[in-house]
Amino acid sequence: MKLRAVVVLGSMLLVAGCAEAGTPSPSTGQQAVDQDSAAALPSEQESNTPNIELTTEWLDPEFCKIEELSEWRHERVSPGEVFKGNATAFPFNPTALPFTGELNVAMVFIDWEDLRGTSAEQSYYLEQAQLFQDFYAMASENTLDVVIHPSSDWFTIPESYRGFVTEPEDEAQRGEAPKKQVFYDAAVAASDASFDYSDMDVVFFGIPTGPQVFANGLHEFNIDYNGFLRTNEGDIFDIAVAGDWFLNNGDDEPPGVYYVHEVGHMIGIQHLANEDDQTEDRMWVRNPMNGYDIMANQGGASRTLSAWLRWLPGWLEDDQIVCLDGESLTTGSYRIQHINAVEGNLEAVVVRLSERKALVVESRRFDPLLDRPSPNDKDGVLVYTVDGTKSAAQGSQVLLSPRDITQMLHEPMWRDQRELDAMSFPGDAIEYDGVRVEMTASDGGFDIVTLSSVG
Ligand SMILES: [Zn+2]
Repeated sequence: MKLRAVVVLGSMLLVAGCAEAGTPSPSTGQQAVDQDSAAALPSEQESNTPNIELTTEWLDPEFCKIEELSEWRHERVSPGEVFKGNATAFPFNPTALPFTGELNVAMVFIDWEDLRGTSAEQSYYLEQAQLFQDFYAMASENTLDVVIHPSSDWFTIPESYRGFVTEPEDEAQRGEAPKKQVFYDAAVAASDASFDYSDMDVVFFGIPTGPQVFANGLHEFNIDYNGFLRTNEGDIFDIAVAGDWFLNNGDDEPPGVYYVHEVGHMIGIQHLANEDDQTEDRMWVRNPMNGYDIMANQGGASRTLSAWLRWLPGWLEDDQIVCLDGESLTTGSYRIQHINAVEGNLEAVVVRLSERKALVVESRRFDPLLDRPSPNDKDGVLVYTVDGTKSAAQGSQVLLSPRDITQMLHEPMWRDQRELDAMSFPGDAIEYDGVRVEMTASDGGFDIVTLSSVG
């Protein structure tokens, strides 16, 4: 490993507070020591702190906010129409729901006369709702406050559940799917007199977990719905009901990750997989962030949200981003904290490659609260591109590998057995479009990355 000029890092550790706020350029790269995440990670005292000179100035992050100019957001929107879809690049496109402040989510328990729910199932759903709530507190850096409103009882639809069973084709996001509305109407009829739906942004219905009622699940977004709830307190357009896929897979892909993913769309966060070509089965083409972002694959090993998707709604603030220009890059090293930390420190390096393209470098650590146990090392650096010419669900973010992205790792899971090989460990480097990103050193809950120009 090639290290550049040396400065004693000890002096850096004495600097308190987070990166200076409100900064156009230049910003400071000095960061506080992460004390709170010590439980799951090596402490600073134990870490073999490398002596590397850190660069402390960079560009105004505004320069790195590449704008989306895409087919669905621009070309397919008729004059006078407002684009309602999820954004892939700046500016963020909010929906009717809040993405900061309070998000009120009802958890209403619905069963049938021949399929009764239990209190154990209620507890299970509430645990899953808690996971979802904690996820958004973390991903939004405590700016989105999910409030769960559970019903205390089960409300019973006075019919057999068998009349409500759906297969995936009945659960379509678009087009004909009338069976979903039959359930929504019956669930509201059973619960409306006793449950106050006023002020609910989103409704989750919890159903018994035994025999299959719904295959994958039923969900609607205010931006794209195929059914809705007509309650005494008003119409509700954001709904999620976990189906058999999430309820009966041995907790490999539990309802909590489904709630995170679908509510993400409801509040403006895009689907990362490329859904254009349904015959494509090369994972690095079909789903180029697969396994590393919950908006790419809710069943992936790393159940988190990538830094770019946190920066778009402003959950990551500009002073947490190192912004560089790919066309005038000078060699520099930067110390970034793993993205699940909520400490206000630097969390990503963004290199503007062109008007519509950026390269993002972020740090990851295995998170025992969210991630599925994996035989593959999850502690390292992730590098990916962002393409603002792509629309949501067109694969706008693409992982790069320091090895060969087409040679996949074995990852035992219910959904698949393969995972993209994308983590960079100390000594690894990636070159893309004249930019070299080296994973220089790991430093407790931080990584030091060195960027330079090549070619
Ligand atoms: Zn999705």
